[in-house]
Amino acid sequence: MEQDVQQILEEALAEGQNVLIEGKVASYIPELAKADSSNLGCCIMNADGSMYKAGDYNIPFTMQSIAKTFSLILALQTSGYDHTFSKVGMEPTGDRFDSILQLELKDWRPFNPMINAGAIVTADCIAAADPFGEFLTLVRKLCGNPKIQLNEKVYHSEKRTGTRNRSIAYLLKSDHVLDGEPEDVLDVYFRMCSVMCTAKDLAHYAMILSNKGVDPKTGERLLDADIVRIVTTLMMLCGMYDESGEYAVKVGLPSKSGVGGGIVAVGQNGMGIGTFGPMLNKKGNSVGGERILQYLSERLGYHIFA
Ligand code: GLN
Repeated sequence: MEQDVQQILEEALAEGQNVLIEGKVASYIPELAKADSSNLGCCIMNADGSMYKAGDYNIPFTMQSIAKTFSLILALQTSGYDHTFSKVGMEPTGDRFDSILQLELKDWRPFNPMINAGAIVTADCIAAADPFGEFLTLVRKLCGNPKIQLNEKVYHSEKRTGTRNRSIAYLLKSDHVLDGEPEDVLDVYFRMCSVMCTAKDLAHYAMILSNKGVDPKTGERLLDADIVRIVTTLMMLCGMYDESGEYAVKVGLPSKSGVGGGIVAVGQNGMGIGTFGPMLNKKGNSVGGERILQYLSERLGYHIFA
């Protein structure tokens, strides 16, 4: 069985490599345009300690929108369920991740925490003296990697060019959804997006989520089980932006993507998967990563409704 998983993972990687040509690296954040388009990797980690890896599973990239899951966790931990969900909803949008279309429909309350507007709100909800410091500590803990760091170049690149996110933050401020000052909240948001991780780090994070928040190595509870339930449910419904429905049909695992090329996918029974491939489809999701996950899901029966 172990060999089967490794072999199927290698087949999945080859499948993913075949579709890279269909994608493009993100360029709207200038620094991201420098990504190596040939990169592709995957790591599967299980609570029993077993691990399978293929390709560029250990190459660091910026987590981008995957940060939205950690920001939601921190908002829930520090300002609670009622406050957080008075500011942001739980409904999928069917729109682009940086859309402003539906904001006005709900008194400017963003539809969900997995789109940019929603994550700018959860960043504002982090009730801590040093929100980014808390964020980094949480990411390091859940990814099992104390060396995780900010990529200064990507952070400055996005901060300099992030006019759309800036617009969203000012709109939210004008309608009193943001408590903090837009530039302060945006600074936290841009930093969070620019934290580096690897597919292996993401597999560890997903393994902890799948294990209901408990670190299987130490038995320590790292996350409240209710928070895990909320985050994974929202990942299932909204984690792949306006491709969330199609992705759920094809792969069937709570997942979150980022324009840096990462996807974190929460398997069942203590299994976590991380993929990395910066070639993106039109929705901003990794083409190679999606192909790998679909292949694994089909061949190994990972779909939660299979
Ligand atoms: N930092 C990116 C942005 O705000 C994150 C978007 C993404 O990964 N989809 O535009």
